[in-house]
Amino acid sequence: MRPVTDRDSAQWWERVAGHEFVVQRCDSCGTLRFPARAYCHRCRTDRWHWQPIAPTGRVESWIVSHQPFLPGATEPYVVVTVRLSQAPECVMYGNWAVPEPPVAGRPARAVFTVVEEGFSLINWRPLE
Ligand SMILES: [Zn+2]
Repeated sequence: MRPVTDRDSAQWWERVAGHEFVVQRCDSCGTLRFPARAYCHRCRTDRWHWQPIAPTGRVESWIVSHQPFLPGATEPYVVVTVRLSQAPECVMYGNWAVPEPPVAGRPARAVFTVVEEGFSLINWRPLE
């Protein structure tokens, strides 16, 4: 089962499949943004490109899911939001990939998890 993509997210998922860690960068004002949007929320321009950034950040928050949204998922599982170190306005989500519970403010690193051919997820683990 794959996420349903839309006009704005499809290219981002393609990059995740290629294990590229990117956010959008506005060509006009330089604002970094995630999730992908057609227009810059700062200057309203529609010109942008993908910007590779470090796959690191700090745990902002998390939930413990007891619902098996994905086939094969073993619940409960933890979904974290991580504020990106090189794009502090951006908060990215993903599964917490280690058994120990997340801690708010803890440095974390993204890891790509191959789910199937052509489809990967970004998960997070503590930054050593
Ligand atoms: Zn802009």
